[in-house]
Amino acid sequence: MAVPLLEVRNLKKYFSRDTGLIDRLLTKDAAPVKAVDGISFTVDAGEIVGLVGESGCGKSTTGETLLLLHKPTAGEIFFRGENILKYSKKELRKLRRHMQMIFQDPYSSLNPRMKVRNIIAEPLKTHGLTSSAEIQERVESLLVRVGLDPTHQDRYPHEFSGGQRQRIGVARALAVEPSFVVADEPVSALDVSVQAQLINLLLDLQQEFHLSMLFISHDISVVKQISNRVLVMYLGNIVEQGPVREVLTNPLHPYTQALLSAVPRPNPHVKTERIILTGDVPSPIRPPAGCKFHPRCPYRKPECETIVPVEKEESQGHRVACHLY
Ligand code: SF4
Repeated sequence: MAVPLLEVRNLKKYFSRDTGLIDRLLTKDAAPVKAVDGISFTVDAGEIVGLVGESGCGKSTTGETLLLLHKPTAGEIFFRGENILKYSKKELRKLRRHMQMIFQDPYSSLNPRMKVRNIIAEPLKTHGLTSSAEIQERVESLLVRVGLDPTHQDRYPHEFSGGQRQRIGVARALAVEPSFVVADEPVSALDVSVQAQLINLLLDLQQEFHLSMLFISHDISVVKQISNRVLVMYLGNIVEQGPVREVLTNPLHPYTQALLSAVPRPNPHVKTERIILTGDVPSPIRPPAGCKFHPRCPYRKPECETIVPVEKEESQGHRVACHLY
């Protein structure tokens, strides 16, 4: 069997809380924030995997931890079959070229004092990839490839629209020809029409560069447009995963069903019942025992309050963690 490009095993990222001495003495509560709480999944070469869930469920922390912007609390990350958590500093420097990020906010992720030419050239220089003439040629070809005018390379980010700025972010991420990209809510700050253009661009580039991507979004309808497979995340855990068509037409987990029921239908005559979740998302500091979703689940059973559901495969590649199965 082919080795996946990326394999994550039981990854955890807990953040300690700086509660201060007085707080700690008074409350004796220094429990960490369990942002990512033991997740496992794979991304194959050339595959786009969507990661979906409500805001605050640990999606961005997952992406950032994969790129080692945070040190994992536990677990393993394999890239091309090698455990990158065992890499030396030198090996990590080489690895960074192959794993890049497209950020959510095209306003704050680009340095406002740098010209576009330098923003795109920076990663090329950092990784010592090409000479000055080659860098110039590469910047121009990248601008053309993401649909921008190369004669605008001496402009600053504020001279572009939001959609254009996100295209600059894409060009910067692809400059070093990575094989894996984490795209963290790359279209959520854009108008709907601009979102569609950017998704089409990402799909084209994915084909052209044979990219693998973890596409993070709170919007399951956006994930549907771009992903081959989808991971549904709730409070630091993956509760359901599988081929996108299979999960979206046959959602098994009550949380996935609720997310899907909130998506507006293109045909207003087709009525679907909206599942309204009661209660707030619990705190990741003291998540509920058993199934973390049980306080909001309309189908909860007594064992849901005490026993953590284990992931089971219901059909090929379609896995769910729920006591109903
Ligand atoms: Fe609901 Fe129980 Fe399934 Fe959790 S394990 S989603 S509480 S039925």
